[in-house]
Amino acid sequence: MFPIRSLDELHLQLRAGQTSCRAVVEYHLSRIEQSRALNAFIEIWADEALARADELDARLAAGNGHMGRLFGAVLSLKDNICYAGHGVTAGSRILSGFRSLYSATAVERLLAEDAILIGRTNCDEFGMGSSNENSAYGPVRNADDPERVSGGSSGGAAVSVQTDCCLMALGSDTGGSVRQPAGFCGVWGFKPTYGRISRHGLIAYGSSFDQIGILGRHPADLAVCLDVMSGPDAFDATALPAAAPAEAQPGPQKIAYFPEAIEHEGIDAGVRALTLDYLDQLRAQGHQVEPVHFDLLDYLIPTYYVLTTAEASSNLARYDGIRYGYRGPNAANLEETYLKSRSEGFGAEVKRRILLGTYVLSSGYYDAYYGKAQQARRLIRDRLLVLFNDYELIAMPVAPGVAWRFGEKSADPVAAYLSDIYTVLANLAGVPAIAQPIGRHPENGMAVGLQWMAAPGADNWLLKNLPGAF
Ligand code: GLN
Repeated sequence: MFPIRSLDELHLQLRAGQTSCRAVVEYHLSRIEQSRALNAFIEIWADEALARADELDARLAAGNGHMGRLFGAVLSLKDNICYAGHGVTAGSRILSGFRSLYSATAVERLLAEDAILIGRTNCDEFGMGSSNENSAYGPVRNADDPERVSGGSSGGAAVSVQTDCCLMALGSDTGGSVRQPAGFCGVWGFKPTYGRISRHGLIAYGSSFDQIGILGRHPADLAVCLDVMSGPDAFDATALPAAAPAEAQPGPQKIAYFPEAIEHEGIDAGVRALTLDYLDQLRAQGHQVEPVHFDLLDYLIPTYYVLTTAEASSNLARYDGIRYGYRGPNAANLEETYLKSRSEGFGAEVKRRILLGTYVLSSGYYDAYYGKAQQARRLIRDRLLVLFNDYELIAMPVAPGVAWRFGEKSADPVAAYLSDIYTVLANLAGVPAIAQPIGRHPENGMAVGLQWMAAPGADNWLLKNLPGAF
């Protein structure tokens, strides 16, 4: 009966009376218990999830009422997505004790379709990180090798799916935070087109990059979840109109890849070999897989880090020790309250980024850094989008290597930033992208993922037309 591998399978079993929502929740709770040492969850809503399961079971037994599209599906929420009456801290000490006053639009839509929320997952502080080592709650361990990182920033979300603590997990992706941990943990991770899912109730990091994303075991599950959450929202002016449904179109696809990315000096040889091998398999299946040059790769990381730190420095100005969460004790006056609250409340990485962001926005440097990076972003986006005139999909590695050992990149933040090279492109350009597990590294056995990007708005199409995925 367990594990249940997909939403369809769950619904078949529920309808046939082979399982119940209570049994499903109990199963996931037992998995959470067994994987506690990995530190994926910050809080578990066991009683609430069980009560909701009973309510859904009663409805199913009575045979009356509508069965929502996510009926009985158990999901976890990243600790930066608001759920009314529940704690939310974005992995930060500065929000300790804070409770959401309202639910994110995405969360309301999940609940309206009868999903069950089981707990909130650990993450890098405010989504800033690639290994979950920047969380106030400690790092998340990778279930495949607990001496290695889960990836980040949605590390808890990835491990919650990897260890079968839930069917799907909501994460957020500003520069790869859904796709990279998914890749490191051997699960699927999807970042929609910018604006596809309302950001209302997602704690802001870099507002022109942030998107809620979904991690799971099957692209078809992600498609249902996306459909449920997406659509316009009066609380988020950047939320797009409802997307047209897409159908699977069997037949060969036109796929581009960047030789510069796969031959990049920073890429691990095992990851390169697996990626090339997978592309060969697709060719053998009849897909048209072609190299295309993209000479802006080296500009991705600088552009991303200038713009996101700038946006973060502005977004995080609101945490002043007065209105939210942690307040530094022993402050003699207002100025000291701000100073102590922010100095003690934020972790080192967040402070580094606020300083960087404030610098690139400061008078005298604005044009040289922020203004320039805006221009670079436009150029990168334009160069990428024209490729979708000729190709349906672009394939790239998810990351240049596999999940690293704890501490390996802590001494050098730039080394960690560079590991985001393949994922930030989709956020700079606002296009949908998905990480697919394609195999295991020949030497260390860790998961390796492949990333697919598609044209803006092609989210539904992408989830239904991944070559070789089914
Ligand atoms: N690792 C990237 C960063 O630290 C991406 C994070 C994210 O997508 N939230 O900015």
